[in-house]
Amino acid sequence: MIIFIFATLIMERRVRVRFAPSPTGPLHIGGVRTALYNYLFAKKNNGDFLIRIEDTDQTRYVPGAENYIIESLKWLGITANEGVGFGDGEHAPYRQSERKPMYKQYAMQLLESGHAYYAFDTAEELDAMRERLKASNVDSKYDAITRMAMKNSITLPADEVQRRIESGEPYVIRIKLPKKEDIKFHDEIRGWVNINTAQMDDKVLYKSDGMPTYHLANVVDDYLMKITHVIRGEEWLPSAPLHVLLYRYLGWEEVMPKFAHLPLLLKPEGNGKLSKRDGDRLGFPVFPLEWKDPFTNEISSGYRESGYLPEAVINLLAFLGWNPGTTQEIFTKDELINAFSLERVSKSGAKFDLNKAKWFNHQYIKHTTNAALAEALNKELTNKGLIFSTEYVEKVCGLIKEKINFIKELWEVGNYFFIDPVSFDEGVIAKRWNDKSPLVIQDIIQLVRSHSDFSAGSFETDYNEALQKNGVTNKEFLQLLRVCLSGVAGGPPIFEMAELFGKEITLKRLQLALDTIRK
Ligand code: GLU
Repeated sequence: MIIFIFATLIMERRVRVRFAPSPTGPLHIGGVRTALYNYLFAKKNNGDFLIRIEDTDQTRYVPGAENYIIESLKWLGITANEGVGFGDGEHAPYRQSERKPMYKQYAMQLLESGHAYYAFDTAEELDAMRERLKASNVDSKYDAITRMAMKNSITLPADEVQRRIESGEPYVIRIKLPKKEDIKFHDEIRGWVNINTAQMDDKVLYKSDGMPTYHLANVVDDYLMKITHVIRGEEWLPSAPLHVLLYRYLGWEEVMPKFAHLPLLLKPEGNGKLSKRDGDRLGFPVFPLEWKDPFTNEISSGYRESGYLPEAVINLLAFLGWNPGTTQEIFTKDELINAFSLERVSKSGAKFDLNKAKWFNHQYIKHTTNAALAEALNKELTNKGLIFSTEYVEKVCGLIKEKINFIKELWEVGNYFFIDPVSFDEGVIAKRWNDKSPLVIQDIIQLVRSHSDFSAGSFETDYNEALQKNGVTNKEFLQLLRVCLSGVAGGPPIFEMAELFGKEITLKRLQLALDTIRK
Protein backbone atom coordinates (compact mmCIF):
# COMPACT_ATOMS: atom_id res chain seq x y z
CA MET A 1 0.00 0.00 0.00
CA ILE A 2 2.68 2.47 1.06
CA ILE A 3 4.71 1.60 -2.00
CA PHE A 4 1.65 2.16 -4.17
CA ILE A 5 1.00 5.62 -2.71
CA PHE A 6 4.66 6.48 -3.10
CA ALA A 7 4.60 5.32 -6.73
CA THR A 8 1.57 7.45 -7.60
CA LEU A 9 3.12 10.42 -5.84
CA ILE A 10 6.25 10.33 -7.93
CA MET A 11 4.23 9.72 -11.10
CA GLU A 12 2.08 12.77 -10.47
CA ARG A 13 3.82 15.56 -12.36
CA ARG A 14 3.92 19.08 -11.06
CA VAL A 15 1.43 21.16 -13.03
CA ARG A 16 3.23 23.45 -15.47
CA VAL A 17 1.44 25.64 -17.99
CA ARG A 18 2.58 28.33 -20.35
CA PHE A 19 1.34 31.36 -22.21
CA ALA A 20 3.18 31.45 -25.51
CA PRO A 21 2.37 34.59 -27.47
CA SER A 22 3.99 35.57 -30.74
CA PRO A 23 5.17 39.19 -30.80
CA THR A 24 3.22 40.03 -33.94
CA GLY A 25 1.26 42.99 -32.57
CA PRO A 26 -0.63 44.10 -29.47
CA LEU A 27 -2.17 41.40 -27.31
CA HIS A 28 -5.88 40.94 -28.06
CA ILE A 29 -8.08 40.55 -24.96
CA GLY A 30 -8.75 37.00 -26.16
CA GLY A 31 -5.03 36.42 -25.64
CA VAL A 32 -5.20 38.04 -22.22
CA ARG A 33 -8.00 35.65 -21.31
CA THR A 34 -5.82 32.70 -22.41
CA ALA A 35 -3.03 34.00 -20.17
CA LEU A 36 -5.49 34.46 -17.30
CA TYR A 37 -6.94 30.95 -17.53
CA ASN A 38 -3.42 29.51 -17.61
CA TYR A 39 -2.50 31.60 -14.57
CA LEU A 40 -5.63 30.61 -12.63
CA PHE A 41 -5.15 26.95 -13.49
CA ALA A 42 -1.51 27.02 -12.37
CA LYS A 43 -2.30 28.75 -9.08
CA LYS A 44 -5.28 26.50 -8.38
CA ASN A 45 -3.08 23.44 -8.80
CA ASN A 46 -0.03 24.84 -6.98
CA GLY A 47 1.83 24.67 -10.26
CA ASP A 48 4.02 26.89 -12.40
CA PHE A 49 2.99 29.40 -15.01
CA LEU A 50 5.56 30.50 -17.53
CA ILE A 51 5.80 32.93 -20.41
CA ARG A 52 7.45 31.86 -23.62
CA ILE A 53 7.84 34.19 -26.58
CA GLU A 54 7.27 32.37 -29.87
CA ASP A 55 9.19 34.49 -32.33
CA THR A 56 10.35 31.96 -34.91
CA ASP A 57 8.50 33.71 -37.72
CA GLN A 58 10.76 36.73 -38.13
CA THR A 59 8.69 38.08 -41.02
CA ARG A 60 5.80 38.78 -38.66
CA TYR A 61 7.91 40.35 -35.90
CA VAL A 62 6.58 43.71 -34.72
CA PRO A 63 8.89 45.95 -32.66
CA GLY A 64 7.49 46.79 -29.25
CA ALA A 65 4.98 43.93 -29.24
CA GLU A 66 6.90 41.79 -26.75
CA ASN A 67 7.24 44.64 -24.26
CA TYR A 68 3.61 45.47 -24.74
CA ILE A 69 2.57 41.89 -23.92
CA ILE A 70 4.65 41.78 -20.73
CA GLU A 71 3.50 45.23 -19.60
CA SER A 72 -0.12 44.20 -20.15
CA LEU A 73 0.25 41.07 -18.04
CA LYS A 74 1.98 43.05 -15.30
CA TRP A 75 -0.72 45.72 -15.30
CA LEU A 76 -3.31 43.00 -14.79
CA GLY A 77 -1.30 41.18 -12.14
CA ILE A 78 -1.06 38.01 -14.24
CA THR A 79 2.40 37.18 -13.02
CA ALA A 80 4.52 34.27 -14.17
CA ASN A 81 6.90 32.10 -12.15
CA GLU A 82 9.44 32.08 -14.95
CA GLY A 83 9.88 33.35 -18.46
CA VAL A 84 10.35 36.50 -20.51
CA GLY A 85 9.69 39.55 -18.37
CA PHE A 86 9.47 37.59 -15.12
CA GLY A 87 12.95 36.23 -14.55
CA ASP A 88 14.68 33.13 -15.81
CA GLY A 89 14.02 29.70 -14.40
CA GLU A 90 15.89 26.49 -15.09
CA HIS A 91 14.54 26.29 -18.65
CA ALA A 92 15.98 29.58 -19.91
CA PRO A 93 16.08 31.04 -22.48
CA TYR A 94 12.35 31.54 -22.98
CA ARG A 95 12.49 33.33 -26.33
CA GLN A 96 12.42 30.81 -29.19
CA SER A 97 14.79 32.84 -31.36
CA GLU A 98 17.37 32.39 -28.58
CA ARG A 99 16.72 28.65 -28.46
CA LYS A 100 17.41 28.24 -32.17
CA PRO A 101 20.27 25.69 -31.84
CA MET A 102 18.11 23.36 -29.74
CA TYR A 103 15.64 22.35 -32.43
CA LYS A 104 17.83 20.87 -35.17
CA GLN A 105 18.46 17.55 -33.43
CA TYR A 106 14.74 16.85 -33.22
CA ALA A 107 14.22 17.62 -36.91
CA MET A 108 17.10 15.20 -37.60
CA GLN A 109 15.59 12.56 -35.34
CA LEU A 110 12.34 12.75 -37.32
CA LEU A 111 14.23 12.48 -40.61
CA GLU A 112 16.14 9.44 -39.40
CA SER A 113 13.05 7.65 -38.16
CA GLY A 114 11.30 8.29 -41.48
CA HIS A 115 8.68 10.65 -40.05
CA ALA A 116 9.98 13.66 -41.94
CA TYR A 117 11.60 14.41 -45.28
CA TYR A 118 13.48 17.15 -47.09
CA ALA A 119 11.60 19.19 -49.68
CA PHE A 120 13.23 21.47 -52.24
CA ASP A 121 10.23 22.93 -54.03
CA THR A 122 10.50 26.60 -54.87
CA ALA A 123 7.71 29.07 -54.16
CA GLU A 124 6.81 29.01 -57.88
CA GLU A 125 6.62 25.22 -57.93
CA LEU A 126 4.38 25.22 -54.87
CA ASP A 127 2.12 27.83 -56.46
CA ALA A 128 1.91 25.81 -59.65
CA MET A 129 0.97 22.71 -57.64
CA ARG A 130 -1.78 24.61 -55.85
CA GLU A 131 -3.14 26.03 -59.11
CA ARG A 132 -3.16 22.56 -60.68
CA LEU A 133 -5.06 21.09 -57.76
CA LYS A 134 -7.48 23.97 -57.56
CA ALA A 135 -8.26 23.58 -61.27
CA SER A 136 -9.20 19.95 -60.70
CA ASN A 137 -11.21 20.88 -57.60
CA VAL A 138 -8.96 19.05 -55.16
CA ASP A 139 -7.88 20.46 -51.80
CA SER A 140 -4.49 22.04 -52.47
CA LYS A 141 -2.44 20.31 -49.81
CA TYR A 142 1.10 19.01 -49.71
CA ASP A 143 0.20 15.50 -48.56
CA ALA A 144 0.73 11.78 -49.02
CA ILE A 145 -0.57 11.96 -52.60
CA THR A 146 0.67 15.29 -53.88
CA ARG A 147 4.16 14.98 -52.40
CA MET A 148 4.81 12.19 -54.92
CA ALA A 149 4.80 14.77 -57.72
CA MET A 150 7.08 17.23 -55.93
CA LYS A 151 10.83 17.66 -55.37
CA ASN A 152 11.62 15.99 -52.07
CA SER A 153 13.69 13.25 -50.51
CA ILE A 154 10.87 10.76 -51.11
CA THR A 155 10.82 11.30 -54.87
CA LEU A 156 14.48 12.21 -55.58
CA PRO A 157 17.37 9.73 -55.49
CA ALA A 158 19.37 9.81 -52.27
CA ASP A 159 22.55 11.08 -53.92
CA GLU A 160 20.73 13.98 -55.49
CA VAL A 161 19.22 14.91 -52.14
CA GLN A 162 22.72 14.83 -50.69
CA ARG A 163 24.10 16.95 -53.52
CA ARG A 164 21.37 19.58 -53.20
CA ILE A 165 21.91 19.90 -49.44
CA GLU A 166 25.69 20.09 -49.78
CA SER A 167 25.50 22.72 -52.48
CA GLY A 168 23.53 24.94 -50.10
CA GLU A 169 20.21 24.77 -51.92
CA PRO A 170 17.42 26.03 -49.64
CA TYR A 171 15.18 23.28 -48.28
CA VAL A 172 12.52 22.68 -45.70
CA ILE A 173 11.88 19.62 -43.58
CA ARG A 174 8.26 18.47 -43.69
CA ILE A 175 6.46 16.00 -41.47
CA LYS A 176 5.53 12.81 -43.32
CA LEU A 177 1.91 12.17 -42.44
CA PRO A 178 0.31 8.77 -43.00
CA LYS A 179 -2.14 8.81 -45.89
CA LYS A 180 -5.22 7.93 -43.90
CA GLU A 181 -5.10 7.55 -40.17
CA ASP A 182 -7.45 8.68 -37.42
CA ILE A 183 -5.70 10.86 -34.87
CA LYS A 184 -7.65 10.82 -31.65
CA PHE A 185 -6.93 12.89 -28.59
CA HIS A 186 -8.79 14.08 -25.54
CA ASP A 187 -9.44 17.77 -25.08
CA GLU A 188 -10.18 18.82 -21.49
CA ILE A 189 -12.94 21.14 -22.70
CA ARG A 190 -14.24 19.48 -25.86
CA GLY A 191 -13.90 15.81 -25.01
CA TRP A 192 -12.63 13.39 -27.65
CA VAL A 193 -11.46 14.94 -30.89
CA ASN A 194 -10.89 12.80 -33.95
CA ILE A 195 -9.22 14.03 -37.13
CA ASN A 196 -8.07 11.99 -40.08
CA THR A 197 -4.65 12.69 -41.55
CA ALA A 198 -6.32 12.79 -44.98
CA GLN A 199 -7.57 16.23 -43.93
CA MET A 200 -4.13 17.46 -42.86
CA ASP A 201 -1.02 18.47 -44.74
CA ASP A 202 2.67 17.74 -44.42
CA LYS A 203 3.47 20.90 -42.48
CA VAL A 204 6.93 22.42 -42.61
CA LEU A 205 8.80 21.79 -39.36
CA TYR A 206 12.21 23.25 -40.04
CA LYS A 207 13.93 25.45 -42.61
CA SER A 208 17.45 25.41 -44.01
CA ASP A 209 18.15 28.77 -42.31
CA GLY A 210 18.13 26.78 -39.06
CA MET A 211 14.83 28.12 -37.81
CA PRO A 212 12.09 25.74 -36.70
CA THR A 213 8.48 26.60 -37.51
CA TYR A 214 5.87 27.16 -34.83
CA HIS A 215 4.76 23.51 -34.81
CA LEU A 216 8.15 21.95 -34.11
CA ALA A 217 9.33 24.68 -31.74
CA ASN A 218 6.08 24.61 -29.80
CA VAL A 219 6.15 20.85 -29.24
CA VAL A 220 9.88 20.68 -28.48
CA ASP A 221 9.65 23.53 -25.99
CA ASP A 222 6.56 22.16 -24.28
CA TYR A 223 8.44 18.88 -23.89
CA LEU A 224 11.71 20.44 -22.69
CA MET A 225 9.90 22.84 -20.36
CA LYS A 226 7.90 19.95 -18.87
CA ILE A 227 4.54 21.46 -19.72
CA THR A 228 1.66 19.35 -18.41
CA HIS A 229 -1.33 21.25 -19.85
CA VAL A 230 -1.55 23.21 -23.08
CA ILE A 231 -4.33 25.74 -22.57
CA ARG A 232 -4.76 27.91 -25.67
CA GLY A 233 -7.26 29.45 -28.06
CA GLU A 234 -9.61 27.42 -30.22
CA GLU A 235 -7.80 28.59 -33.36
CA TRP A 236 -5.07 26.08 -32.48
CA LEU A 237 -7.39 23.08 -32.34
CA PRO A 238 -6.70 22.13 -36.00
CA SER A 239 -2.96 22.05 -35.20
CA ALA A 240 -3.37 19.78 -32.18
CA PRO A 241 -3.45 16.45 -34.13
CA LEU A 242 -0.17 17.40 -35.77
CA HIS A 243 1.29 18.11 -32.34
CA VAL A 244 -0.04 14.77 -31.06
CA LEU A 245 1.77 13.03 -33.93
CA LEU A 246 4.99 14.90 -33.20
CA TYR A 247 4.87 13.71 -29.59
CA ARG A 248 4.34 10.17 -30.87
CA TYR A 249 7.10 10.31 -33.50
CA LEU A 250 9.58 11.87 -31.10
CA GLY A 251 8.85 9.16 -28.55
CA TRP A 252 7.37 11.53 -25.97
CA GLU A 253 3.80 10.25 -25.83
CA GLU A 254 4.16 9.28 -22.17
CA VAL A 255 4.61 12.92 -21.17
CA MET A 256 2.37 14.51 -23.77
CA PRO A 257 0.57 17.46 -22.14
CA LYS A 258 -3.20 17.51 -21.83
CA PHE A 259 -4.88 19.86 -24.28
CA ALA A 260 -7.57 22.43 -23.53
CA HIS A 261 -8.76 24.65 -26.37
CA LEU A 262 -10.63 27.71 -25.13
CA PRO A 263 -13.78 28.98 -26.86
CA LEU A 264 -13.59 32.03 -29.10
CA LEU A 265 -14.47 35.51 -27.91
CA LEU A 266 -17.36 36.57 -30.14
CA LYS A 267 -18.70 39.90 -31.37
CA PRO A 268 -21.46 41.38 -29.17
CA GLU A 269 -24.01 40.24 -31.81
CA GLY A 270 -22.63 36.74 -31.47
CA ASN A 271 -21.55 36.01 -35.03
CA GLY A 272 -17.85 35.81 -35.63
CA LYS A 273 -14.67 36.50 -33.74
CA LEU A 274 -14.37 39.74 -31.80
CA SER A 275 -12.14 42.08 -33.79
CA LYS A 276 -10.56 45.47 -33.39
CA ARG A 277 -13.12 46.81 -35.87
CA ASP A 278 -15.96 45.76 -33.53
CA GLY A 279 -14.28 47.70 -30.75
CA ASP A 280 -13.92 50.80 -32.95
CA ARG A 281 -17.51 50.48 -34.16
CA LEU A 282 -19.07 50.03 -30.73
CA GLY A 283 -16.67 52.08 -28.65
CA PHE A 284 -14.76 49.64 -26.50
CA PRO A 285 -11.12 48.58 -26.45
CA VAL A 286 -10.04 45.13 -27.57
CA PHE A 287 -6.51 45.60 -26.24
CA PRO A 288 -5.44 45.82 -22.59
CA LEU A 289 -3.23 48.90 -23.07
CA GLU A 290 -3.18 51.64 -25.65
CA TRP A 291 -1.14 50.57 -28.67
CA LYS A 292 0.59 52.70 -31.27
CA ASP A 293 1.28 50.77 -34.44
CA PRO A 294 5.00 51.28 -35.15
CA PHE A 295 4.45 51.14 -38.92
CA THR A 296 1.31 53.24 -39.39
CA ASN A 297 1.34 55.22 -36.10
CA GLU A 298 -2.32 54.34 -35.76
CA ILE A 299 -3.45 54.38 -32.12
CA SER A 300 -5.76 51.72 -30.69
CA SER A 301 -7.40 52.32 -27.34
CA GLY A 302 -6.66 50.20 -24.28
CA TYR A 303 -8.63 49.14 -21.22
CA ARG A 304 -6.13 50.88 -18.96
CA GLU A 305 -6.36 54.22 -20.73
CA SER A 306 -10.16 53.92 -21.05
CA GLY A 307 -10.49 53.88 -17.28
CA TYR A 308 -10.99 50.20 -16.56
CA LEU A 309 -9.50 48.92 -13.33
CA PRO A 310 -7.27 45.87 -13.67
CA GLU A 311 -9.32 43.90 -11.11
CA ALA A 312 -12.48 44.58 -13.12
CA VAL A 313 -10.82 43.45 -16.37
CA ILE A 314 -9.69 40.23 -14.68
CA ASN A 315 -13.18 39.61 -13.35
CA LEU A 316 -14.93 40.32 -16.64
CA LEU A 317 -12.48 38.24 -18.68
CA ALA A 318 -12.80 35.32 -16.28
CA PHE A 319 -16.52 35.27 -17.05
CA LEU A 320 -16.04 35.29 -20.83
CA GLY A 321 -16.01 31.53 -21.31
CA TRP A 322 -16.13 30.30 -17.72
CA ASN A 323 -18.68 30.46 -14.91
CA PRO A 324 -18.54 29.30 -11.31
CA GLY A 325 -21.91 27.52 -11.43
CA THR A 326 -23.30 29.87 -8.77
CA THR A 327 -24.84 33.34 -8.93
CA GLN A 328 -21.75 35.06 -7.56
CA GLU A 329 -20.29 37.45 -10.13
CA ILE A 330 -17.79 39.57 -8.25
CA PHE A 331 -14.62 37.62 -7.59
CA THR A 332 -11.25 38.73 -6.28
CA LYS A 333 -8.29 37.11 -7.95
CA ASP A 334 -7.87 34.72 -5.03
CA GLU A 335 -11.53 33.75 -5.21
CA LEU A 336 -11.13 33.09 -8.93
CA ILE A 337 -8.12 30.89 -8.28
CA ASN A 338 -10.16 28.90 -5.79
CA ALA A 339 -13.20 28.54 -7.99
CA PHE A 340 -11.51 27.98 -11.37
CA SER A 341 -11.61 24.68 -13.19
CA LEU A 342 -11.32 23.68 -16.85
CA GLU A 343 -14.51 21.61 -16.46
CA ARG A 344 -16.49 24.81 -16.11
CA VAL A 345 -15.06 26.39 -19.25
CA SER A 346 -17.70 26.30 -21.96
CA LYS A 347 -17.31 24.79 -25.40
CA SER A 348 -19.28 27.47 -27.18
CA GLY A 349 -18.00 30.96 -27.95
CA ALA A 350 -18.43 33.75 -25.40
CA LYS A 351 -20.16 36.93 -26.54
CA PHE A 352 -18.52 40.17 -25.47
CA ASP A 353 -21.07 42.36 -23.68
CA LEU A 354 -20.10 46.02 -23.35
CA ASN A 355 -22.75 46.85 -20.76
CA LYS A 356 -21.64 43.95 -18.64
CA ALA A 357 -18.03 45.14 -18.95
CA LYS A 358 -19.06 48.60 -17.72
CA TRP A 359 -21.07 47.02 -14.94
CA PHE A 360 -18.03 45.11 -13.72
CA ASN A 361 -15.97 48.29 -13.73
CA HIS A 362 -18.71 50.14 -11.85
CA GLN A 363 -18.72 47.47 -9.13
CA TYR A 364 -14.97 47.88 -8.65
CA ILE A 365 -15.07 51.69 -8.75
CA LYS A 366 -17.76 51.64 -6.06
CA HIS A 367 -15.39 49.74 -3.82
CA THR A 368 -12.32 51.79 -4.60
CA THR A 369 -11.31 54.00 -1.68
CA ASN A 370 -12.19 57.68 -1.88
CA ALA A 371 -8.49 58.44 -1.42
CA ALA A 372 -7.52 56.47 -4.53
CA LEU A 373 -10.25 58.07 -6.61
CA ALA A 374 -9.31 61.50 -5.28
CA GLU A 375 -5.75 60.98 -6.41
CA ALA A 376 -6.94 60.41 -9.97
CA LEU A 377 -9.36 63.32 -9.88
CA ASN A 378 -6.75 65.61 -8.34
CA LYS A 379 -4.50 65.09 -11.35
CA GLU A 380 -7.24 66.34 -13.62
CA LEU A 381 -7.99 69.28 -11.33
CA THR A 382 -4.34 70.30 -11.21
CA ASN A 383 -4.21 70.15 -15.02
CA LYS A 384 -7.08 72.56 -15.09
CA GLY A 385 -5.44 74.84 -12.54
CA LEU A 386 -8.02 74.05 -9.86
CA ILE A 387 -6.72 73.68 -6.32
CA PHE A 388 -8.86 72.04 -3.65
CA SER A 389 -8.04 70.33 -0.39
CA THR A 390 -7.54 66.57 -0.52
CA GLU A 391 -10.23 66.19 2.10
CA TYR A 392 -12.75 68.02 -0.09
CA VAL A 393 -11.84 66.04 -3.22
CA GLU A 394 -12.13 62.77 -1.31
CA LYS A 395 -15.56 63.70 -0.02
CA VAL A 396 -16.68 64.58 -3.56
CA CYS A 397 -15.47 61.18 -4.76
CA GLY A 398 -17.36 59.50 -1.94
CA LEU A 399 -20.56 61.26 -3.02
CA ILE A 400 -20.34 60.58 -6.74
CA LYS A 401 -18.67 57.18 -7.08
CA GLU A 402 -22.04 55.45 -7.09
CA LYS A 403 -22.85 57.30 -10.30
CA ILE A 404 -19.85 56.45 -12.45
CA ASN A 405 -18.53 53.52 -14.47
CA PHE A 406 -15.09 54.96 -15.18
CA ILE A 407 -12.56 57.07 -13.31
CA LYS A 408 -12.58 59.65 -16.10
CA GLU A 409 -16.27 60.26 -15.37
CA LEU A 410 -15.36 61.69 -11.97
CA TRP A 411 -14.82 65.05 -13.65
CA GLU A 412 -17.63 64.64 -16.18
CA VAL A 413 -20.12 63.88 -13.43
CA GLY A 414 -18.69 65.97 -10.61
CA ASN A 415 -17.23 69.09 -12.24
CA TYR A 416 -19.83 71.34 -10.53
CA PHE A 417 -18.15 70.60 -7.21
CA PHE A 418 -15.21 72.63 -8.51
CA ILE A 419 -16.60 75.17 -10.99
CA ASP A 420 -19.87 77.10 -11.24
CA PRO A 421 -22.42 75.76 -13.70
CA VAL A 422 -22.40 77.50 -17.07
CA SER A 423 -25.89 76.28 -17.94
CA PHE A 424 -28.93 74.89 -16.16
CA ASP A 425 -30.77 71.76 -17.28
CA GLU A 426 -33.34 73.07 -19.75
CA GLY A 427 -35.80 70.24 -19.36
CA VAL A 428 -36.11 70.77 -15.63
CA ILE A 429 -36.33 74.57 -16.00
CA ALA A 430 -39.06 74.27 -18.65
CA LYS A 431 -41.07 71.95 -16.45
CA ARG A 432 -40.54 73.44 -13.00
CA TRP A 433 -39.57 77.11 -13.18
CA ASN A 434 -42.50 79.49 -12.58
CA ASP A 435 -43.24 82.86 -11.05
CA LYS A 436 -42.87 81.50 -7.56
CA SER A 437 -39.44 80.03 -8.14
CA PRO A 438 -37.39 83.25 -7.70
CA LEU A 439 -39.34 83.99 -4.53
CA VAL A 440 -38.54 80.59 -3.04
CA ILE A 441 -34.87 80.95 -3.91
CA GLN A 442 -34.71 84.45 -2.45
CA ASP A 443 -36.26 83.17 0.76
CA ILE A 444 -33.80 80.28 0.97
CA ILE A 445 -30.93 82.72 0.48
CA GLN A 446 -32.25 84.96 3.22
CA LEU A 447 -32.80 82.12 5.68
CA VAL A 448 -29.37 80.59 5.07
CA ARG A 449 -27.76 84.02 5.55
CA SER A 450 -29.65 84.59 8.77
CA HIS A 451 -27.79 81.97 10.78
CA SER A 452 -24.15 81.28 11.15
CA ASP A 453 -24.11 77.48 11.05
CA PHE A 454 -24.63 75.57 7.84
CA SER A 455 -25.17 71.85 7.38
CA ALA A 456 -27.24 69.41 5.33
CA GLY A 457 -29.81 69.52 8.14
CA SER A 458 -29.98 73.31 8.54
CA PHE A 459 -30.17 73.79 4.78
CA GLU A 460 -33.04 71.33 4.50
CA THR A 461 -34.91 73.14 7.31
CA ASP A 462 -34.44 76.50 5.60
CA TYR A 463 -35.54 75.06 2.30
CA ASN A 464 -38.71 73.58 3.81
CA GLU A 465 -39.51 76.87 5.50
CA ALA A 466 -39.16 78.75 2.22
CA LEU A 467 -41.41 76.25 0.46
CA GLN A 468 -44.07 76.57 3.10
CA LYS A 469 -44.00 80.33 3.02
CA ASN A 470 -44.64 80.33 -0.73
CA GLY A 471 -47.12 77.47 -0.82
CA VAL A 472 -44.87 75.27 -2.95
CA THR A 473 -44.46 71.50 -2.44
CA ASN A 474 -41.20 69.61 -2.17
CA LYS A 475 -42.18 67.54 -5.19
CA GLU A 476 -42.55 70.68 -7.31
CA PHE A 477 -39.29 72.23 -6.24
CA LEU A 478 -36.65 69.68 -5.20
CA GLN A 479 -35.26 68.96 -8.64
CA LEU A 480 -35.22 72.63 -9.46
CA LEU A 481 -33.16 73.25 -6.34
CA ARG A 482 -30.66 70.66 -7.54
CA VAL A 483 -30.42 72.28 -10.96
CA CYS A 484 -29.95 75.72 -9.37
CA LEU A 485 -27.05 74.40 -7.31
CA SER A 486 -25.33 72.14 -9.81
CA GLY A 487 -26.77 72.90 -13.23
CA VAL A 488 -27.60 69.24 -13.85
CA ALA A 489 -30.63 67.08 -13.20
CA GLY A 490 -29.06 64.14 -11.40
CA GLY A 491 -26.53 63.69 -8.65
CA PRO A 492 -25.92 62.77 -5.03
CA PRO A 493 -28.35 63.63 -2.19
CA ILE A 494 -28.97 67.39 -2.52
CA PHE A 495 -28.54 68.54 1.06
CA GLU A 496 -25.36 66.56 1.55
CA MET A 497 -24.09 68.04 -1.69
CA ALA A 498 -24.84 71.57 -0.44
CA GLU A 499 -23.12 70.87 2.86
CA LEU A 500 -20.03 69.86 0.97
CA PHE A 501 -20.20 73.01 -1.18
CA GLY A 502 -20.35 75.01 2.05
CA LYS A 503 -22.43 78.05 2.86
CA GLU A 504 -20.68 80.54 0.62
CA ILE A 505 -20.75 78.50 -2.56
CA THR A 506 -24.33 77.43 -1.93
CA LEU A 507 -25.41 81.08 -1.61
CA LYS A 508 -23.34 82.05 -4.63
CA ARG A 509 -24.90 79.31 -6.76
CA LEU A 510 -28.45 80.22 -5.72
CA GLN A 511 -27.78 83.86 -6.60
CA LEU A 512 -26.26 82.81 -9.93
CA ALA A 513 -29.35 80.76 -10.74
CA LEU A 514 -31.55 83.67 -9.81
CA ASP A 515 -29.59 86.02 -12.05
CA THR A 516 -29.30 83.62 -14.99
CA ILE A 517 -32.43 81.54 -15.30
CA ARG A 518 -35.14 83.08 -17.45
CA LYS A 519 -37.99 81.07 -18.70
N1 GLU B 1 2.42 31.28 -30.48
C1 GLU B 1 1.06 30.84 -30.49
C2 GLU B 1 0.16 32.08 -30.45
O1 GLU B 1 0.62 33.15 -30.67
C3 GLU B 1 0.80 29.96 -29.30
C4 GLU B 1 -0.09 28.80 -29.54
C5 GLU B 1 0.03 27.83 -28.40
O2 GLU B 1 -0.23 28.22 -27.27
O3 GLU B 1 0.41 26.70 -28.65
O4 GLU B 1 -1.01 32.00 -30.21
